[in-house]
Amino acid sequence: MGQGLSCAATQEHGLFSAVQSGDLDTVKAMLERDPSLTHQTTSYDRQSALHIAAANGRIEILSMLLERSVDPDVVNRHKQTPLMLAAMHGKIGCLKKLIEAGANILKFDSLNGRTCLHYAAYYGHSDCLQAVLSAAQSSPVAVSWGYARFVNIRDGRGAAPLHLAARQRRPECVRILLDNGALVCASTGGFGCPGSTPLHLAARGGSIDCIRELLAWGADRLQRDSSGRIPYLVALKHKHGACAALLNPSSAEPLVWPSPLKFISELNQEAKTLLEHALMEANREREKNILKGTSYSLPSPSHSDIGADDNISEASDAELCCICFEQVCTIEVQDCGHQMCAQCTLALCCHNKPNPTTACLNPPVCPFCRSTIVRLVVAKVKDCDDADQDIGDIGSPKMRKARKSRNFSSEGSSSFKGLSAMSPFGKMGGRGSGRIAADNEWIDKP
Ligand SMILES: [Zn+2]
Ligand SMILES: [Zn+2]
Repeated sequence: MGQGLSCAATQEHGLFSAVQSGDLDTVKAMLERDPSLTHQTTSYDRQSALHIAAANGRIEILSMLLERSVDPDVVNRHKQTPLMLAAMHGKIGCLKKLIEAGANILKFDSLNGRTCLHYAAYYGHSDCLQAVLSAAQSSPVAVSWGYARFVNIRDGRGAAPLHLAARQRRPECVRILLDNGALVCASTGGFGCPGSTPLHLAARGGSIDCIRELLAWGADRLQRDSSGRIPYLVALKHKHGACAALLNPSSAEPLVWPSPLKFISELNQEAKTLLEHALMEANREREKNILKGTSYSLPSPSHSDIGADDNISEASDAELCCICFEQVCTIEVQDCGHQMCAQCTLALCCHNKPNPTTACLNPPVCPFCRSTIVRLVVAKVKDCDDADQDIGDIGSPKMRKARKSRNFSSEGSSSFKGLSAMSPFGKMGGRGSGRIAADNEWIDKP
């Protein structure tokens, strides 16, 4: 068979392995000799040199090919573009370069009908996900499709990127997608039909971090999939006990962002980060309480507790919150200028179960003067001799001290308790005890 290997095939092989290994000089020399090689593809998968460069993060070769006006949207056997492969393998440099060169972010492959956004979400490359989303905001896609529609784009089986990120245990991607308008309760079944929600898929994947993000954005623990199951039953079936405990409709409701698409999106970024952090921390405390009675414990926490045993008296030189007298003021209400801590702000703004049809969209009022809250900003720290002025850095020692220790979710000591709306238990008991249907799970393979 050896003699059957033609000269062209040898050359082809040489080109592709040179691209794969990033041997720019060899690739250049080969293309000088035979420019038509840029259009060569591998024999079975029909990968072009551009695909191989993108998948392997060979940005110099990729750039050189694009300069030779190779079509950035060339497709392989599965109609995958180089952009999809860059998103799949997390090659952010190549991904950005392709987008710069005009690659189309709205192409669908023929395997599952997925876009590059699906690939980034599925494989958990949050930097690539963010880059594609940024591109979508400025590209013609935004005009022709609308940004929100692109963020919620469906693959051939009805899955939006958020479904894939939740299923594959990618909390960072889940958060970015939610932040960009992904619909938290979207069902894979499409309009009006039952299907899996991102919460069902997070329950199946068994990621507490994803479940926490989804719940904080108002995911519904009682929504049923096409087999009539609530997420709780899906978690039980797949033996994710800790997830099941949190998804149990009779366990305490988490704090939820208020009408997230409206109120919070108007926050400035620093205040938002601060509040997000406080909300996630409050929900972690809640999780600890829920799991205390079970044999499960939270997996190694994704946030650091280091510094939590600092002396609390150190916090007292800063302005204490006049509502709880426990935390340092970190949030300022504008225009009135009153200050309170992040936890009390959350208690004011958040509620447990937003009903999208009846949710009150009126922004809350200042608890001190009852004037409308126009804006929430990060409060200025007053003691100027503290070198650590970066209040926006929630990891800073000062902030840790401030956030120290209060069991926000279970403690009722705050005079503000009424506003915190933390009902100890959800309204229903065993409504989730329905049948466990045959295992025709929605997604089993990439
Ligand atoms: Zn407070
Ligand atoms: Zn006020």
